[in-house]
Amino acid sequence: MTDANENLFHAIETRRDDLIALTQDLIRIPTLNPPGAMYREVCDYIGARLKSSGFSVEMIRAHGTPGDSDQYPRWNVLARHEGNGAGECVHFNSHHDVVEVGNGWTFDPFGAELSDGKIYGRGTCDMKGGLAASIIAAEAFIATHPDYKGAIEISGTADEESGGFGGVAYLAEKGYFNPDRVQHVIIPEPLNKDRICLGHRGVWWAEIETKGRIAHGSMPFLGDCAVRHMGAVIAEMEATLFPLLATKRTDMPVVPEGAKQSTLNINSIHGGEPVQPEDYTGLPSACVPDRCKMVIDRRFLLEEKLPEVRAEMIDLLDHMKATRPDFDYEIRDMHTVIPTMTERDAPVVQTVSRAISAVLGKGPEYVVSPGTYDQKHIDRIGRLKNCIAYGPGILDLAHQPDEWIGVEDMIDSAKVMALSLRELLAG
Ligand SMILES: [Zn+2]
Repeated sequence: MTDANENLFHAIETRRDDLIALTQDLIRIPTLNPPGAMYREVCDYIGARLKSSGFSVEMIRAHGTPGDSDQYPRWNVLARHEGNGAGECVHFNSHHDVVEVGNGWTFDPFGAELSDGKIYGRGTCDMKGGLAASIIAAEAFIATHPDYKGAIEISGTADEESGGFGGVAYLAEKGYFNPDRVQHVIIPEPLNKDRICLGHRGVWWAEIETKGRIAHGSMPFLGDCAVRHMGAVIAEMEATLFPLLATKRTDMPVVPEGAKQSTLNINSIHGGEPVQPEDYTGLPSACVPDRCKMVIDRRFLLEEKLPEVRAEMIDLLDHMKATRPDFDYEIRDMHTVIPTMTERDAPVVQTVSRAISAVLGKGPEYVVSPGTYDQKHIDRIGRLKNCIAYGPGILDLAHQPDEWIGVEDMIDSAKVMALSLRELLAG
């Protein structure tokens, strides 16, 4: 190992206690989403920390985005450190929001207790541990390479867990991820310290509604049951669509294995009278339901195009309209995300790959996420392709009770990040 590596690794090792304390402080600010609590507090904390390390700090509220209100403003923090002369900019983007706590915890979810080399709490793994590791990596790099060229940016952004519209999407729309401003983006999501995540599958959410005619429940033959029509839609899906999706396989290295094919989830279904509150003691009234709604969540592959994904479903429904008496439907798009995958020969991929080999003694595994994360906005709105997710933490722990992050994993991934900074900015 080179002396330069040794110096950098030493600078990270000596910051171990600082890394632990920083992670604990971040966990103890419960930035729950929904509703989007304490966003300003966490941004102020990150901003103050990075200001004291020589960064200039900007606070950006995503006015008017979903969920933004005076009670729950969508705050983002963006910090930038200028090197000594012109060069490229490396940006670390972490979301600062965390999901609800849920049941089954044996640790205080916001206590950030350190036990046996692990820090426990909501958001440790997803992804305040990754944020803390990137801050320590940048500080250690700057301390050991004060004459580096270019710039380092670190952002803490809102609402990734609810689509990222008040976070990365907003910043991208404002030009913060323009390729002339930022050249390399690393998102320290918990993909494991030895894996590089190149992108994610696509999403198409839609609502299908079948139509019927209301009548008295004792004489259903006088009406037309929308729920039975929906049952026929599901039967048709089982007979033709699910088998078709199982044949569609991707060359993307998606994990887990089951997500290497196209998937469809029936997210919800509802027909007939609205569900009454739990404390309502009355009986339902006797009616034939005249409408039934289903929300579908279709995840698609890089090899598929959105129009063909939609056409598959619409062809199925049109076929039913042509063959099933009185069948009628409507379909409404709710949300789409186009699949994205950064090329393996992209500079940020190559750099982080070499850094992983240097720190861990073996090359990375390349993966693609079954779901989506903020890379979608950096790609589609920012038009910046040179972007990956790389960070500490075990993906399966995200959103679980007793979520934790390993201190050693944070140290290792901070070394990878710092080494990447050196290659890109002081190579
Ligand atoms: Zn996350």
